[in-house]
Amino acid sequence: MLIDSYDRVVDYLRVSVTERCNFRCTYCMPEKPFSWVPKENLLTFEELFEFMKVAIDEGVKKIRITGGEPLLREGLDKFIRMIYDYAPSVDLAMTTNAFLLKGTAQKLKDAGLKRINVSIDTLIPKVAQDIAAKDVLKNVLEGVEEALKVGLKVKVNMVPMKTVNAQEIVSVLEYCKERNMSIRFIEYMENKFAAKEIVGMKSPELLSILSEHYEFSDDGFDGTSPSHYFTMKDGYRFGIIEPYEDDFCKKCNRIRLTAEGNLIPCLYFDEALSIRDSIKAGDIKGAALVLKEVVRTKPEKNRWGGEDGEVSSRAFYETGG
Ligand code: SAM
Ligand code: SF4
Repeated sequence: MLIDSYDRVVDYLRVSVTERCNFRCTYCMPEKPFSWVPKENLLTFEELFEFMKVAIDEGVKKIRITGGEPLLREGLDKFIRMIYDYAPSVDLAMTTNAFLLKGTAQKLKDAGLKRINVSIDTLIPKVAQDIAAKDVLKNVLEGVEEALKVGLKVKVNMVPMKTVNAQEIVSVLEYCKERNMSIRFIEYMENKFAAKEIVGMKSPELLSILSEHYEFSDDGFDGTSPSHYFTMKDGYRFGIIEPYEDDFCKKCNRIRLTAEGNLIPCLYFDEALSIRDSIKAGDIKGAALVLKEVVRTKPEKNRWGGEDGEVSSRAFYETGG
């Protein structure tokens, strides 16, 4: 079992399989200029899988595949199948923008994927185009319908931003509710790659808008999930991810692996250790030692909204959010 210096059990690994993306969301990446990590620097799926085995053997029980846009990486279903065949009980999930999901959902489900989180910030085509710098909404919504059809469990992530999609908080929630998909509103996290003019919405503001439309109770937190949950009178549950709140990190159980092999103990902190050389050399013991060291050095708290006003230099598209 992996336990950090603050007695938190670390059993959740988020794996970014590529930093590349077919969207340019204003809150995540600059439209340009851009330079990607050369493809030859990425760990292959076989190499990533070698590390998945190490992590699973050390106690990881949940793996989320993310990016960039994970569906851009060819052979993703084979990677999923490798993990599933090795440890069918691992909770295997993926976060995607769903643009390519219509043609891939069945293959991913057959390979062993159980759940997906899809980012839907708006239901208005022009707003979606403004956020992603591309006309994306039709493909995204078709991708979601296909995922539901093939039996994947779907959760939706929305990043509410003033003057961009604030007026759609209720309509996106209703879209999810109608399809029995839960929604999590993610507070916008400042970072140096996002467009300067973005103003995110914090939890109290979201709750105030939602309370004009619904009655709901505050359920607090559930296990190690980062979501603060609320339940409506009819039983529908929604969540808000509040990284600026003091207690957000108390139950954190996650670490992150980038496509190049950097193992990151916390989304905000710049520190990371690489498993790349050990994995490339077939040194499984070495990779396990790096994993344990990253868990040991996991910081107590993130620094979102720190007093110094510093913003994160860690790119969401690199770490996978
Ligand atoms: N491309 C996939 C997607 O968009 O779902 C996966 C990667 S994306 C980096 C993972 C999550 O991070 C998405 O739900 C996205 O909304 C969220 N995200 C990206 N930048 C963010 C920011 N600045 N603040 C809050 N959430 C952010
Ligand atoms: Fe791409 Fe996801 Fe970032 Fe949007 S949030 S630019 S879809 S990685």
